[in-house]
Amino acid sequence: MADFLYPWQQGWWQQWQQMRASLPHAVLFHGPAGIGKTAFAERLAQSLLCEDALPDGQACGKCVSCGWFAQYSHPDYRRIRPGAIDVAEAKEGDDADDGDASDGGNEAVAKGARAGSKVIRIAQVRELADFMNISTHRQGRRVVLLYPADALNAESSNALLKTLEEPLPGTVMLLVADNLDGVLPTILSRCRKFPLPMPPRELSLEWLREQGVGDAEEWLAEQGGAPLAALAMAQAGRRDELDEFLRQLVRPEVDGVLKTAERLQKTPVPELIVWLQRWLYDIFSAKYSGRIRYYPRFAREIEMLAARADSGKLLRILKATGARKAIADHPLAPRLFIEDMLLDYLEFCS
Ligand SMILES: [Zn+2]
Repeated sequence: MADFLYPWQQGWWQQWQQMRASLPHAVLFHGPAGIGKTAFAERLAQSLLCEDALPDGQACGKCVSCGWFAQYSHPDYRRIRPGAIDVAEAKEGDDADDGDASDGGNEAVAKGARAGSKVIRIAQVRELADFMNISTHRQGRRVVLLYPADALNAESSNALLKTLEEPLPGTVMLLVADNLDGVLPTILSRCRKFPLPMPPRELSLEWLREQGVGDAEEWLAEQGGAPLAALAMAQAGRRDELDEFLRQLVRPEVDGVLKTAERLQKTPVPELIVWLQRWLYDIFSAKYSGRIRYYPRFAREIEMLAARADSGKLLRILKATGARKAIADHPLAPRLFIEDMLLDYLEFCS
């Protein structure tokens, strides 16, 4: 996790500083995926606990409190997130440490979480009660960061409500969500909402180029303008997979579908669905507004598809592709899943 603000977050910070004067006890940050919302909330959490904050309110990075924070051992800070994120981060850490796997695996998963789980479990929320009931170690302030808030299920949401309804003085809850639709209205109504917008394109492009990303414009467009998502794709060297998939969408035919499904069976299926959805949105938007958002480098092909697409069929496949998302997390046979999805698209094109 970055220990600085991204360039597009400076304005967010100033907005936060204004809010800080009358700090609410729960804030929900929301906005598009891939813009650094959680990293931003972590910087806020650190600054709230810092004992020698800089004039602009940011954490000093040098005091005892900041030291603890950096090692995630601050006694007045808790981070609640699904077990799957713990496992993913532990793996990343292992890679970075050149294979030191001694503390990997289940031990890396936070208390109450379950390894691999994508849900924030009720046990994790209950752990909070214990945390809240002991006195603070340093300055009388406690910070809880919970993300993504749309990973709370009904049970854990209800458990969290109790905490939100009876806030303890000095305790600040920071929640982060991509999508407010996934958060219970009762939770929403007890949080101050803090929208974080898509960063300005020029700022994102400049930053991506500084990170050494070639084709920054294409990557950024393909991720809908989200700079961190664009960087992740570029760094993962995903151009080949994406191109293989898009080539199939330009001119689908049965043989190609079967080969592509075979070659991409290791690509996470939810990502393929998003790529297809964006392609279909582009066809839709080219047809009705003449604009292409995600794949401008395929403008000519998309316009041709849009010109001959039947509106009813287009709406149907958009809906069907959205429905696939709900069952895409762990398909038993990824290759068959991809085949089926692409054959559906082939049918739409014919
Ligand atoms: Zn500090």
